Amino acid sequence: MNNAAVFFDRDDTLIKNIPYLGDPEQATLMPQARESLQLLHNNGFMLFIISNQSGVGRGYITKAQVRAVNDKIIELLGKNFFTDIYTCYDDPDNPIEGCRKPLPGMLLRAEKAYHINLQNSYIVGDRLHDIEAGVNAGCKSILYVTKSHPEEKPEALAKVVFHSDDLLEIARWICHQQNEKGFIS
Ligand SMILES: [Mg+2]
Repeated sequence: MNNAAVFFDRDDTLIKNIPYLGDPEQATLMPQARESLQLLHNNGFMLFIISNQSGVGRGYITKAQVRAVNDKIIELLGKNFFTDIYTCYDDPDNPIEGCRKPLPGMLLRAEKAYHINLQNSYIVGDRLHDIEAGVNAGCKSILYVTKSHPEEKPEALAKVVFHSDDLLEIARWICHQQNEKGFIS
């Protein structure tokens, strides 16, 4: 149970957020997404996408469209860095799966399936629900500071181990932490 993971939120963390995105051709990577994933991969972390996609539960887009966007992300990255991609399709007003962040369900599924040590793992996201999902799962939460939802930032910042508006700086910080602890050489 020593696998360390970094869980990435998708929208406004790895790709620019377009609400209920169903067209893969509109997906564009966030700055330094590729470099950040490559660095963490090189340092031995298992990488995951953990994404709420309520557009499916609300009936705006299909699961196939979400998968097509995810496939496009891998194509844009030029490499599949991800051990797995977890998506919660729940409409918050009518949840069926009960996995929507801030609930920890997607992280706990990854823990079981891939023998991850959550205490040695991180979640990186731009929203309060990402940060809280990490806390609820027992891993460390990092806020990727973007311009969206400024009203959430104070509460999110109170619950994180680190924050930055630079994704590569976040990746470097995580690698530094693990090297300090000697988990990964
Ligand atoms: Mg997001």
